[in-house]
Amino acid sequence: MASKYPQLVRPSVDASVVVVGNELLSGHTEDANGPFLAEQMRELGHRVRRITVVPDDEHEIVSALQDAKARAGLVFVCGGLGPTADDVTIDAVAAFLERPLHEPEPAREQIHRIYRKGHKRDLIDSPDVDDDAWRMARVPEGATVVRNDEGAAPGSVHTVADTRLYVLPGPPAELQSVVHHLRRRDLIPVEDAMTEIEVELDTFEAPVSSELDTLDRENPDVEIGSYPQHGERRVVVRLRGEPEAVEDAHEALNEALGDIVIDGA
Ligand code: AMP
Ligand code: MG
Repeated sequence: MASKYPQLVRPSVDASVVVVGNELLSGHTEDANGPFLAEQMRELGHRVRRITVVPDDEHEIVSALQDAKARAGLVFVCGGLGPTADDVTIDAVAAFLERPLHEPEPAREQIHRIYRKGHKRDLIDSPDVDDDAWRMARVPEGATVVRNDEGAAPGSVHTVADTRLYVLPGPPAELQSVVHHLRRRDLIPVEDAMTEIEVELDTFEAPVSSELDTLDRENPDVEIGSYPQHGERRVVVRLRGEPEAVEDAHEALNEALGDIVIDGA
């Protein structure tokens, strides 16, 4: 499938996501950003190892970032970039990176732009930026600032040792806009060599568990997931890994369970 994004192939990297927001932990808001980023990573050939939800608390965010950095080459943190006192993510990122905050020109321009846009659309009375909005232009030194077409807070990318840290706004439309620009600018590596094959089986899970166990044991390089569909006689099996290994596992699956594979699924 042709992609609208540049395809620079680099080694597959593990990813970790830190989602910030008290409202997510209290059950008021359902997290949309973790699943969106997981899907993006799958599309780009990377494996998400962990999605953590933490409160709007500087220490908790720093601790989650340290943990994420220890296990992943790509770390995403989202939420808590707004102008109010409970938005502390960028302070936590600066503390984690041990870099001072400044207001680089692209971040200031991003805020000017969104105010002009909001004024043109009659969403705000004046294109003049409110004093408190400049809080959102604060970014740790050394960052690449990334455009957000849907809101004021820019995204940013930071390099720390061999980990790349992406800082993203919380409102899902804003986060998705920043991810679009990250991909357009080739700021997220792309790994082509991962394949996923999905097979549907006409069965419940228990009758095929020993065949799936064998398949799993004999194909250690392939991630094999079995997903029963509630209330249906149907199991979705996904095989993921390097193309050749996935092909081998797929062949073995067809040999063992070919008679109950649902064709054309
Ligand atoms: P924030 O700037 O992160 O404090 O949040 C701004 C708005 O985006 C609030 O209405 C949040 O509830 C919403 N939001 C933030 N993070 C998420 C998320 N992970 N999933 C869904 N909505 C979110
Ligand atoms: Mg918040």
